[in-house]
Amino acid sequence: MSTAFKTVLLFGPPGSGKGTQGVAIGTLPGFFHCSSGDVFRSLDPESELGKVFKQYSTRGELVPDDVTIDICTDFLNKQVDAGKFNPANDVLLLDGLPRNVAQAQALDGKIDVVKVVYLEASDTEALVQRLKKRALDSGRADDADENVIRNRMQVYTDETAPVLAHYPDNVIAKIDALPTPAEVMRTILDALIPAIG
Ligand code: AMP
Repeated sequence: MSTAFKTVLLFGPPGSGKGTQGVAIGTLPGFFHCSSGDVFRSLDPESELGKVFKQYSTRGELVPDDVTIDICTDFLNKQVDAGKFNPANDVLLLDGLPRNVAQAQALDGKIDVVKVVYLEASDTEALVQRLKKRALDSGRADDADENVIRNRMQVYTDETAPVLAHYPDNVIAKIDALPTPAEVMRTILDALIPAIG
């Protein structure tokens, strides 16, 4: 990457609707959505890198930082070459990356972070109930354990805090994840539009 990509980072705990919002906003002209999880899942499972990904993801672990940065950077450059991502006009909506401070540091200079959207629940209990209902609806009773859900959310919050702290306070937009998807999207866009120019 020669010039830093104008970028919005998307964060949100399990159940916050981060994935839904990323995909939805990514369909708008002027945005290019990139989910690091999707980039990894698109690798050929038989390739060297595909095997590396499987080795870590099946244990629920993060892929090493240098591999992650290389794969995602390479993916973005290929999207530029293919004409799918036009950095002169499109804002990069980065989802799932950076996951830690080392990744955030490695991306400094490659991305110009104009906004950090953090979807959070004003009422954590409502988010727990939302996840519990979703787990029951999809028949995954193991995921319906409230303590497991609370723990996953706490882990996410603890891991994300230092990453958020890497960016200036004035670029961080904390947005309530509990209203309807359309309302949440409107609030995100209200926060983004003045920042992306
Ligand atoms: P996700 O869909 O974001 O939950 O990601 C699925 C898997 O991809 C994770 O469990 C990791 O193994 C890998 N992954 C995604 N993003 C990253 C990242 N930023 N750093 C390291 N590993 C990642």
